[in-house]
Amino acid sequence: MKATEAAALPVRPGEDPWTPEELAQVRNQLQSEIAAQREELRESEDELADRLTDPVEGAGDDPADVGAKTFQREHDLALAYNTRDLLAKSERAIEQMDAGTYGVCDSCGQAIGKARLQAFPRATLCVTCKQREERR
Ligand SMILES: [Zn+2]
Repeated sequence: MKATEAAALPVRPGEDPWTPEELAQVRNQLQSEIAAQREELRESEDELADRLTDPVEGAGDDPADVGAKTFQREHDLALAYNTRDLLAKSERAIEQMDAGTYGVCDSCGQAIGKARLQAFPRATLCVTCKQREERR
């Protein structure tokens, strides 16, 4: 990204504009997380597939055993769901960097703020909107 493009991204009043280096740092962090999240999803899908084809040990007549397996499967599915959600948010953040719309609050359209994005690169709401959402 060119310096002019980085500097064109929104920041909060009082914040210095993004430098290409700062943006590259956030981007690299997101990209390494995307790689890890993709790997995690691939593994959990493999595990789920394995478990589906696995014959249930001991004929699976014990209801507690079946219950534990069901719980484990639901737990895995929930984890995969969360990872997929994070992955989608990471990818969206990168797309927004490319489009020059990174750092705009989804709710109010104001700048999310550079400091907040450096701490939470996937943030889609400014602090004010985030707090309002959490109170609901
Ligand atoms: Zn907002």
